[in-house]
Amino acid sequence: MAKIRPETQLVHLGRNPTYTQKGVNPIIQRTSSVIFNTLEEKQHATRNRAKSVLFYGRRGTQTHFAFQEAMTELECGAGAVLYPSGAAAINNAILSFISSGDHILVTGSAYDPTQNFCDKILTKFNVDTDYFDPMIGANIAELIRPNTRIVFLEAPSSITMEIHDLPAIVNAVRQKSSDIIIMIDNTWAAGVLLKPLLLGIDISIQSATKYINGHSDGMLGVAVANERCIDTLRENSYLLGQTADPDTVYMAGRGLHTLATRLKQHEANGLAIAQWLEQQPEVDRVFHPALPSCPGHTFFVRDFNGSNGLFSFQLKSRLSQEQFESFLNHLNHFKMGYSWGGYESLILGYQKEDLLGMRQYDVNFNEGTLFRIHVGLEHPQDLIEDLKKAFERSQ
Ligand SMILES: *Cc1c(COP(=O)(O)O)cnc(C)c1O
Repeated sequence: MAKIRPETQLVHLGRNPTYTQKGVNPIIQRTSSVIFNTLEEKQHATRNRAKSVLFYGRRGTQTHFAFQEAMTELECGAGAVLYPSGAAAINNAILSFISSGDHILVTGSAYDPTQNFCDKILTKFNVDTDYFDPMIGANIAELIRPNTRIVFLEAPSSITMEIHDLPAIVNAVRQKSSDIIIMIDNTWAAGVLLKPLLLGIDISIQSATKYINGHSDGMLGVAVANERCIDTLRENSYLLGQTADPDTVYMAGRGLHTLATRLKQHEANGLAIAQWLEQQPEVDRVFHPALPSCPGHTFFVRDFNGSNGLFSFQLKSRLSQEQFESFLNHLNHFKMGYSWGGYESLILGYQKEDLLGMRQYDVNFNEGTLFRIHVGLEHPQDLIEDLKKAFERSQ
């Protein structure tokens, strides 16, 4: 068969007839117990419980298997494990491979709760975390110790949007040790815009809460691993009690089918607004991976298939508290709130001290106030007018 294009792949993903049972979509199977008709059936299920065979609700139902197959194919892996949230996916993936006394390298620009997990939980198990500059590239080799077990990446960075030189990092790590597990938080790319496993990364982790589910109405995490990591990831996550509810898993699977179209519109709207922002006299820099002003833009062009609606921009000057409030408090379309990846636009504002608190590498932030926006599916002109009024109000 000819190589299937991403739009077509996303329409087909997870629609294995075993799970759709003659409908278009997989069934929603809610069950804890699985009934075995014979002892032989029970023994068969026990032997195959890691392999999409009904065994017990916590191991997954037909709904889970359909979505796991879809994610495995999308991320080009050997299998997928589901979690109740993106944060649970990240933390359990790390816990699945770490032992007391180990060392882990984490990008200093990782999603804030990932850093907090390392600082507040891993320390309790005598696991040392070193953070690195997201632009470190091959120099990561210098940070690797004999007990380094995991390298944890995230591209683009949360908030500041730097793009790693992924092949340089992967090669440098592999040259030092083939045992180190390389993981990436691939939430921004939604499994579509970047294929980490094809770059030699072992585990690609996502908050499916974001673009995959796509409607800001469910929490779900997923980790897709390659052949060498999937069994350990699956078994350890199971031992840690991880599971996801079938209704949310169903919604995430449904989200996959419109993901290509949604991403393209988020990308077009995002670029329209990023380019408009670049022209505004108040704006110093727009941190959008598809614009040359974003650190690592050339790596983005080389490794990614496109962008979406999530990026940041920094003003030339720091807004006073009063200006900051008048910018954020009266927007019509950009709602103030965490998370992103739904159909709606969102905004968060950061002063320099807020950013420094979240960055664990040497970074020279300007004084200017920074805004992280998620550009939704509204008409971009309405969004531009919304921001324009905010600039005027905060003069
Ligand atoms: C939101 C987010 C997470 C956490 O996902 P939840 O589903 O909210 O737990 C992790 N990483 C990134 C980059 C995110 O944006």
